[in-house]
Amino acid sequence: MSRTLHIDWTKCDGRGLCTELLPGLLGRDDWGYPVARRGDRTDIAIGRDDADAADEAVKLCPRLALRVVGGSGGSGGRPAR
Ligand code: SF4
Repeated sequence: MSRTLHIDWTKCDGRGLCTELLPGLLGRDDWGYPVARRGDRTDIAIGRDDADAADEAVKLCPRLALRVVGGSGGSGGRPAR
């Protein structure tokens, strides 16, 4: 089951910690907010190589703006439908 990283834009303050943990998945826009390097802007597919870093980003996000969706386990995830 694939997992995605969901960004809640209403909570994010654009400081960019997640972009440092996930440089392959996330870049920063002109205001410092994280943006997907490819694909969906809000729900970003997490590759196997980024799985641990995505979980870490969820744990460390100071605004609780990140959530891993889908798959088994993972911090802050919710069961897949
Ligand atoms: S770590 Fe959280 S608050 Fe900081 S830029 Fe990423 S999503 Fe936004």
